[in-house]
Amino acid sequence: MKINLQKYLRARRPIIWCNTSDYKEIDDLLKISTEEINDKVIYEFRALGAVDFETKEISEEVKSLYNFLDIIYSEGYENNIFLLVKNAKDEMEKSEVLAYLKKIAELRYSNPNYNFTVLVVSDSNSVPKELEKFTSILEIENMSQEEIESYILNFGKIHGVKIDTEDIGEIAISLKGLSKLEIDHVLNMMIESKKNISISDRNIIIREKGQIIKKSAVLELIDFKEKITDIGGLEGLKEWLEESAKVFRKLDEAKSYGVDTPKGVLLVGMPGCGKSLAAKASARLFNAPLLRLDIGRLLGKYVGESEHNMRVALKTAESISPCILWIDEIEKAFSGIDQSGGASDITKRLFGHFLTWLQEKENTVFVVATANDISTFPPEFLRKGRFDEIFFVDFPTEEERERIFEIHLERRHKNRNDFDISKLAKATDGYCGADIEEVVKLTLKKAFVNDKEQIDTENLLDGIKEIDSLSTILSDKIETLKKGFKKFKIKSASKNGKGQKNLSENKDMIFVQGGKYIPSFFEEEREVGNLEVCKYQTTQDMWMEVMENNPSNWKGGRLPVENVSWWDALEFCNKLSEKHGLQPVYVIEENEERNILKINQKNGETVYPNLVDFKKTEGYRLPTELEWEWFARGGEVAIQDRTFNSKYSGSDNIDEVSWYGDCLEIDSILERGNSKNMTHSVGLKKANELGLYDCSGNVQEWCYDTYDSNGVSYLSNKTAYIYDENNEERIVRGGCAKEVRKKLRFGFLRGDTFYTSKELCEVSKREMKNESSISRSAGFRIVKSV
Ligand code: ATP
Repeated sequence: MKINLQKYLRARRPIIWCNTSDYKEIDDLLKISTEEINDKVIYEFRALGAVDFETKEISEEVKSLYNFLDIIYSEGYENNIFLLVKNAKDEMEKSEVLAYLKKIAELRYSNPNYNFTVLVVSDSNSVPKELEKFTSILEIENMSQEEIESYILNFGKIHGVKIDTEDIGEIAISLKGLSKLEIDHVLNMMIESKKNISISDRNIIIREKGQIIKKSAVLELIDFKEKITDIGGLEGLKEWLEESAKVFRKLDEAKSYGVDTPKGVLLVGMPGCGKSLAAKASARLFNAPLLRLDIGRLLGKYVGESEHNMRVALKTAESISPCILWIDEIEKAFSGIDQSGGASDITKRLFGHFLTWLQEKENTVFVVATANDISTFPPEFLRKGRFDEIFFVDFPTEEERERIFEIHLERRHKNRNDFDISKLAKATDGYCGADIEEVVKLTLKKAFVNDKEQIDTENLLDGIKEIDSLSTILSDKIETLKKGFKKFKIKSASKNGKGQKNLSENKDMIFVQGGKYIPSFFEEEREVGNLEVCKYQTTQDMWMEVMENNPSNWKGGRLPVENVSWWDALEFCNKLSEKHGLQPVYVIEENEERNILKINQKNGETVYPNLVDFKKTEGYRLPTELEWEWFARGGEVAIQDRTFNSKYSGSDNIDEVSWYGDCLEIDSILERGNSKNMTHSVGLKKANELGLYDCSGNVQEWCYDTYDSNGVSYLSNKTAYIYDENNEERIVRGGCAKEVRKKLRFGFLRGDTFYTSKELCEVSKREMKNESSISRSAGFRIVKSV
């Protein structure tokens, strides 16, 4: 940038036009670029009048640009004059001003002793016709990643704040596309509440970038809650997206490994089958903001307008990147196709530009384009190499319909085990995902209006009869679409034969991106690695499949398993790992006094717990307390949604997310809960931001850690945990149970009722328990490092 400006100055360009609103940047740039020029004077003029360039004091006398030019015009013979005109649009439209500027420009060209340069800073690039031939456009390029990194370090020095050096690369990538002024703004906001700069404040950056989008006419920043697990079926697509997201999230590493930057995906297929849903879910998966490009608004009335809009949209998306650019109904853009099947010139040019951009782009804009009708697509659009992959989204198979029913029932707090899901799926051949959602919604509404307490399979079957499937309503159109798709051999988004992985392949594990946060039990930020976490507390079905017994007090396949000790939970994890062909995490050496624990690392080593690095484990295991609190609070997703500090996991309203109990305490009858002092099927309450159920309430969950006398988990703290045979206390989280006393006629007596107190359901509350003890209040949830 500095080089460009110096180049123009050396070339004696009389007028330099710069489109930016970052005045500070321009001031700095001008100062640096003119450093070596002697006898110089820098003047400044703004909409309000002349101002002092150094002090920014407004002159009382000079209010019009014409007068100002007239006053300083002749100084160009004696000194090197630089006039900075900032955002003085009205003045710059006056004919006498334009004439004066033209006179100055001509003189500068014709007389080598006349040195007068005008630098116009404006929020548009439309140079008045009269000045065009004297003007050069100065592009303000955004800072590169390296420049931003050193800028942040410098900012840290000036403000005396700590910068997480491990994070700095990631922060810099997130800040790319912002001007210096905007970066300053973000960094100031980051240090407002705490004295350090870390990537855990990514939401501030996303918000700032959202401001840029608001100024764009064709792009929209979409708020989304959808997760990849909200999609029933489409396993092939989901798997592919997960792989691409992994590359995207670790781009630097992937690139040096030789992996290409993911470009994008085209989803074509039947209406209402989950294409838009997949676009939204990928934003969550990629952990990036979602921008929607509105093709309707992009297509302008005037020649060249559409192309201009497309260019601006792509540039804006680049400046927001990393982001997902969702181009919905991309076929609309091909509406200008003539009868012979050839594209009109506008369409050709528009998409020529888009395709070149897509093919050549090296940026982190991941495109998800969706379309129903591909009959008007130019063949080159579908050619391999443009998009990374093209998927065909068909009507769901029977197995996929089962899953879609389960998703929509669970979303409305219904237990999938209460319904004959297979019957429902069989009755909905030809229904799309949106139809199935409609069936569930309609049935529930009817039941509510008729004061029914619950709905059953029959009610849903009645609902199915009332809703015609999309393939019936649009039969002709669907036929035509099908023919169109057949012409091109496009990969199916579903997995052939098998729509859904079964339990033993663990469809219930959810990917949870790691991150940094200050846990409630520690004063400094700690880092959590990427994980897979089970949506549910370990159920009795899961337990029995692996252990072939059931120790639980309350029996039921979907109820969480309880009455298991910490050691029992470890044994379950190991057996499950073996079942899935994974290296078990724990090595339990049985000893007369006490079991001795060691941990298997992927490099073949077996280490004592004080040396473990859980990132290097392969199989299923218990979460550390640090991990537990991260996912229970909703992780990165909740940070972005600004709900990370909710009282309970997923809400401030306990009844929404938690089963908790009545409490009879010594001195008073305290709470009335909703659990009737028993456990409930998992997944009936609202899930948290990550799609995890029951992190608050139901049973409490064993964590891996033990903790020291200061209440800090050894492993979370990362101080060496010296293996101590007497240390047998382990942390339990998520609704710690209290001992309950029953009131008898002659006083209080300890009883055995179970309850999970409201207060202890808070996501920050913790308790410890003897690792060998069993109780009807303690169950667990499994995780796995990824
Ligand atoms: P269109 O081409 O008409 O825009 P689409 O393929 O983009 O349709 P979506 O908008 O994703 O369809 O689907 C509408 C709604 O139907 C979704 O928000 C979701 O609630 C439900 N739905 C559709 N497909 C699925 C699915 N596979 N799993 C779960 N829900 C689904």
